[in-house]
Amino acid sequence: MTQRSTAEKMLLILSAFAFLTITPFVYIRWVEGDMVMAAIDAILSLGTAIFFVFVFYTRKIKTAKFILSIFFSIAIVTIVAIRGQTHLFWLYPGMIAFYYILPARAAGAICFLAILLIASIIFPVTNMLDFLTIISTLLLTAIFSYVIFSNFNKTNDRLTLLASIDPLTSSGNRRALDLKLEKILSDQKRESSKVSLLLLDLDHFKKINDSYGHANGDIVLVELVELIQKHTRSLDDLYRYGGEEFIILPLKVDLLEAKQIAEKLRAIIEKSTFAGKISATVSIGVAQYRAGETAEAWISRADAALYVAKDSGRNRVVAESELNKENDHS
Ligand code: GH3
Ligand code: MG
Ligand code: MG
Repeated sequence: MTQRSTAEKMLLILSAFAFLTITPFVYIRWVEGDMVMAAIDAILSLGTAIFFVFVFYTRKIKTAKFILSIFFSIAIVTIVAIRGQTHLFWLYPGMIAFYYILPARAAGAICFLAILLIASIIFPVTNMLDFLTIISTLLLTAIFSYVIFSNFNKTNDRLTLLASIDPLTSSGNRRALDLKLEKILSDQKRESSKVSLLLLDLDHFKKINDSYGHANGDIVLVELVELIQKHTRSLDDLYRYGGEEFIILPLKVDLLEAKQIAEKLRAIIEKSTFAGKISATVSIGVAQYRAGETAEAWISRADAALYVAKDSGRNRVVAESELNKENDHS
């Protein structure tokens, strides 16, 4: 089983905490003879317990967050209906919490419905000035939270994207590669299947920089990435592993097929010109994932294959199985 995410842990701790805090009140209200509140607290306590079990076993965080928000807004509205309007103050922090855990639109919809219900409950029993004050402050809180949180979410998405792409070539960066590898490995643990990677390195790139200048070298990298993406689109992702080294994964094929894909790519690159005039070639190492191995071990097998490709003259593809054969002979 993969590790629980922060959101998952947060929901588990929150619901366990809510359960432990609410449950004694069932007893306290019951001893006080307040059967209505005892019943409401019992339902809340049972609800949080069911919620905990649901998150613990299904791990459906998105659904859980929705259920939690709807559950608490219904609870607040019910308590206001039974106990009077002083309890509606809970809706203010409640609404901010909904925006924190849900997409802004979903939170907005829940807040708006809760405010509508509260308005219809308190309207007959509240004087007009108080009513208008309550409803307008509730609405303003909901609207401000909507604006703040939708901006916050947009900024977060942008930062997440920026933190995962290489600024020069717009391919995935090392961080994105590490996350992807982690995901592939955890998928493989659950259900193993054929998956291969290509480790690609530009040949004599130092010479290209020396002959045409560093700026042209940069253009070669950018155009190389565009070329690879054009030919591997939707099959797999491209990551910049180092200066002029790239990793393509996950190719959901075995070693032999992956080698054929690499060979096609190598031929396409050989025929292309970069920055209008520069010819470049690549060497590629191919390795298929072996059950149980680490990401580092997988990449280092591809690296060993790449080393052989370089050693045997460059502009060629070597699959990791060919290394084994060589090792067997030696
Ligand atoms: P080989 O065929 O053995 O791979 O030779 P090579 O010259 O490609 O390899 P080497 O590792 O000796 O040199 C890599 C060069 O890549 C050196 C470095 O200046 C260049 N390089 C790395 N990152 C960038 C970059 O972002 N832009 C440019 N223009 N050059 C880069
Ligand atoms: Mg190189
Ligand atoms: Mg290199």
